[in-house]
Amino acid sequence: MRDIESKPSNFIRHIIDEDLKNNKNGGRVATRFPPEPNGYLHIGHAKSILLNFGLAEDYNGTCNLRFDDTNPHKENIEFVEAIKNDVAWLGCDWGDQVYFSSDYFDALYDFAVQLIKKEKAYICDLNAEEMRAYRGTLTEAGKDSPYRERTVEENLDLFARMKAGEFEDGSKVLRAKIDMASPNINMRDPTLYRIRHGVVHHQTGAAWCLYPMYDFTHCISDALEGITHSVCTLEFEDHRPLYNWFLDTLETENHPQQIEFSRLNLEHTITSKRKLTELVDNGHVEGWDDPRMPTIAGLRRRGCTPAALREFCQRIGVTKSENVVEMAVLEGCIRDDLNKNAPRRMAVLHPLKIVITNYPEDQFEELEAANHPQDESFGMRKLPFGRELYIDQEDFKEVPPKKYKRLIPGGEVRLRNAYVIRCDEVIKDAHDNVIELHCTYDADTHGKNPEGRKVKGVIHWVSAKHAIEAEVRLYDRLFNHPTPDNSKDGKTYIDHLNPQSLLTLTHCYLEPTLIDATPGEQFQFEREGYYSLDPMHQANNKPIYNRTVTLRDTWAKIEKRR
Ligand code: ATP
Ligand code: MG
Repeated sequence: MRDIESKPSNFIRHIIDEDLKNNKNGGRVATRFPPEPNGYLHIGHAKSILLNFGLAEDYNGTCNLRFDDTNPHKENIEFVEAIKNDVAWLGCDWGDQVYFSSDYFDALYDFAVQLIKKEKAYICDLNAEEMRAYRGTLTEAGKDSPYRERTVEENLDLFARMKAGEFEDGSKVLRAKIDMASPNINMRDPTLYRIRHGVVHHQTGAAWCLYPMYDFTHCISDALEGITHSVCTLEFEDHRPLYNWFLDTLETENHPQQIEFSRLNLEHTITSKRKLTELVDNGHVEGWDDPRMPTIAGLRRRGCTPAALREFCQRIGVTKSENVVEMAVLEGCIRDDLNKNAPRRMAVLHPLKIVITNYPEDQFEELEAANHPQDESFGMRKLPFGRELYIDQEDFKEVPPKKYKRLIPGGEVRLRNAYVIRCDEVIKDAHDNVIELHCTYDADTHGKNPEGRKVKGVIHWVSAKHAIEAEVRLYDRLFNHPTPDNSKDGKTYIDHLNPQSLLTLTHCYLEPTLIDATPGEQFQFEREGYYSLDPMHQANNKPIYNRTVTLRDTWAKIEKRR
């Protein structure tokens, strides 16, 4: 039975509940996710994927993964594979078959012939510019094309010859014959087919020089697959009359219901595939999976989990009102998930060497540390401790600011999971930079609080001899402006790119247990944030760790201060 009680409802679920009550579609629920393989999927698509596959799951229905592949010059097989990979990673199951609109090219052609025979479509010779002029405007009716009254015979003959490759690109199109005076511009004799010579389609090769348009293809594909609820974003609302017109005119066996919801917009990023393509093609980022990208591949490489994305989509909900979600909502979901599920490790990002002068040279011991402060099931690990350690430069101040609780000359601090140390001597280079600290440790302080001493600060450390050297990449917002492609200041989204979106630390030291980290695995580097081992790349034979998210929402503070 349906498992929907636990999930927040929304207007689409209400529609489906109502349909089921009325036994519409014989009680079936069939949805689909129809990406165009002209780029990688982004977080907005994740919302659509989880919505469509989620409905299928909850109502014991089906959800088809269908590639809307009618623009072969912009599409390719790399994108097809990347999309499949991302949908699977989100945990969605499309069953045994992947669908392609191109599977229906023959059927679509026959439907077009039917429209011609019903005198509902004609071949038009107007060029693109003339077509635009004839179309009219929002306030002005369009004009009939001079080719609108061609006979059925002439139209059938021309259409067959278009298919046979007799005409050049742009010289002729097939158009629906609806109403050039319709207040809805989509209904003013929209184009159904255009000619495209010389492109090799990733599925159909060079078989066709005639390609159907989205609006014509989409509704028929839905009908052929027996889709019941065709869920899409609000920009298709004005296309709904056309969706229905095609299916009514063609009297298809199934007539799916198109339902629109508002797309996801996220602050400080963009979710336009065209613009994301530009970021990649013009080298503003390192690729589709650059961890700063709002793509699913980028989020994954950054260390975000499917569970966090699911939680995010639950929290934002499904409505018809346009809004822009704060990045903090997404980061909050990632943080909550990793706080629960990421083991703790120690990593020194800005190393400062310390020598424990009263600890014997070449001696080491192993200290136990919990892998998770709240969850014992994570177990314990052993950390080597010896004479030479690294701590973070930030954890020592020669001239401490007020309330500074960490290490100062002559002061004491606790090393996390280890001993209390005192700083005896500060070693500097010729430019007065601190390069090393000489400290002494108190052998009686492991695991206990030293009596009569105020040791407030606890800092992290690693053994110099055992540490793994790594590159750590700190990511920040890709754009400085909350709505970079709609900033209303005359600037473009490119102008709003954050020049500090990536900070690379090339000499970081990680505790040695991280030798066992698996690609993509996430950790909390204590006191630093959540990090994940880059699944594919290395930097000069060193592992790369990507910062997934900081420990706290540091941006909220910055924005309050403004
Ligand atoms: P394009 O401009 O290339 O058409 P698109 O973002 O619409 O870009 P599609 O591949 O056509 O990309 O999208 C597949 C599905 O994902 C569509 O049903 C679309 O409505 C949905 N979708 C796209 N962007 C978002 C978004 N930001 N939020 C929610 N759903 C989205
Ligand atoms: Mg689209």
